[in-house]
Amino acid sequence: MKDEDIQAIQKLLSTPKKVVIIPHRSPDGDAMGSTLGLYHFLLKQNHEAIVITPNEFPDFLAWLPASEKVLIYEKDKENTAKIILDADLVFTLDFNAFHRTGDMEQVLKKITAPIIMIDHHQKPDDYAKYMFSDTKYGSTCEMLFHFIADLGAKSLLDKTIATCIYTGIVTDSGSFRFPSTTSTTHRVVADLIDIGIENGAIHNSLFDDSSYSRLQLLGQALQNMKILLDKKTSYITLSQKELDVNNYVKGDTEGIVNYGLSIKGVVFAAIFIEHREENIIKISFRSQGSFDVNQFAREHFNGGGHINAAGGKSHLSLKDTVAKFEEILAKTTIN
Ligand code: 5GP
Ligand code: MN
Repeated sequence: MKDEDIQAIQKLLSTPKKVVIIPHRSPDGDAMGSTLGLYHFLLKQNHEAIVITPNEFPDFLAWLPASEKVLIYEKDKENTAKIILDADLVFTLDFNAFHRTGDMEQVLKKITAPIIMIDHHQKPDDYAKYMFSDTKYGSTCEMLFHFIADLGAKSLLDKTIATCIYTGIVTDSGSFRFPSTTSTTHRVVADLIDIGIENGAIHNSLFDDSSYSRLQLLGQALQNMKILLDKKTSYITLSQKELDVNNYVKGDTEGIVNYGLSIKGVVFAAIFIEHREENIIKISFRSQGSFDVNQFAREHFNGGGHINAAGGKSHLSLKDTVAKFEEILAKTTIN
């Protein structure tokens, strides 16, 4: 972040403010970790902070400190809109375009208070007064750590804030295996461990607290996996019926797409999940190496993300979405 922006933000934060912190819709570990990490940091400086998510966050993140304090826009639009528009300062974390918050976009467009964006996705929209936007970081949580350090406030980091930050780093880096994991990422984590986080316990809360039905759903997903080896591609489908039979709850499909990449010779993996209530097919794309799934998602499936991890959606049926995907693949070169 630019020095003059840091100075301006230091000045803004030098007196108590009403601050609203917003992640993207269907927030993941990085979105919840960064918003709650910032929340605890601001409380320590005597600000009045509130995290408002566009919709519900998944159960597997409900152990995060103060997650019970989070307000959910979709549950109480009138009240949360009022709080957002009444704020002195708004942070948007882990997204860079208002439409990533769904219909909360209508409220965000009316904000007159300064907005601070911290985000690591490509092509940021131009809505923030202060922007810390950089695709080289593997997670918004890692950026939050540097942001706090740049503010000269590293001494305020405590176990609670560090736990939130670690959560986003570990989830967005696929437990430190994605290429965006740098030596700096590990140095940041070393600091977090020195501050006192229980990294093993956090890992357990995130990944080893699964329900039996989630594993059954994973089994169904793996059964459904198709391989197109000439295209170095694999894809998985999950229908609404399959979700229902396996007692799906939000978060249960998190990470399943990555199994597709674990097959020898596969560098491009997709998962198509039917959400009948919203009438969309939610799609996740993952790749290894140079195949740019951000561009693929933007071009064909109304989405975006990063080079090796992106998402999108389709309003066609599950069957037609997959047919469209196969048609596009036939015309796409995958190295
Ligand atoms: P996931 O597949 O885990 O939902 O998302 C992977 C990455 O792509 C995340 O960084 C996420 O923010 C981004 N992403 C997912 N869905 C969309 C979308 O519809 N639009 C955009 N622009 N990015 C998305
Ligand atoms: Mn992220």
